Amino acid sequence: MQRALRRLVWQRADSRCEYCRIPQSAISETFHIEHVIARNHAGKTSNENLALACNRCNLFKGVNLSGIDPLTGVLCRLFNPRADAWDDHFALDDDAIVGRSAIGRTTANLLRFNQVGRRQLRAILLERNEF
Ligand SMILES: [Zn+2]
Repeated sequence: MQRALRRLVWQRADSRCEYCRIPQSAISETFHIEHVIARNHAGKTSNENLALACNRCNLFKGVNLSGIDPLTGVLCRLFNPRADAWDDHFALDDDAIVGRSAIGRTTANLLRFNQVGRRQLRAILLERNEF
C-alpha cells in the first residue's frame, strides 16, 4: 500500500479506530488499515474502501459484511465508516457504546465493543477526557 494512502487513512481517522473510536495512543498494538469490504469479497485497496481499525475491531469484524441484530434477530449489514456517520448509529451510555440503529446494534455486538476490558479502558479515557 502506498505511503500517501496510508497517511490519508490515518489522518482521516484522526488516529482513532473508526469503529469503536479508541485512540491509538491508548493501545500498544499498532492499528490496522482494514478493508471495509474485505478483499475476499472483491473489496479494493482504495481510499473509499479503507478504514483505520484497532486490532480487536479488525479481528472480530474479519471478512464479515453483516451480522445478526441482537434485538430483532434479523440479518443486518455492518457499519461502514466510509458511508455512515458514527453518531447516527452509535451513542455512549456511560462507558458502553450502544447501537442507535439496527446497523449500530449489529456492529457493536459483532465487534464486541463492550467487552469488560474495553469498557474499563473507555471509562479511564472518558475520565481523562481522552475519548
Ligand atoms: Zn476498534
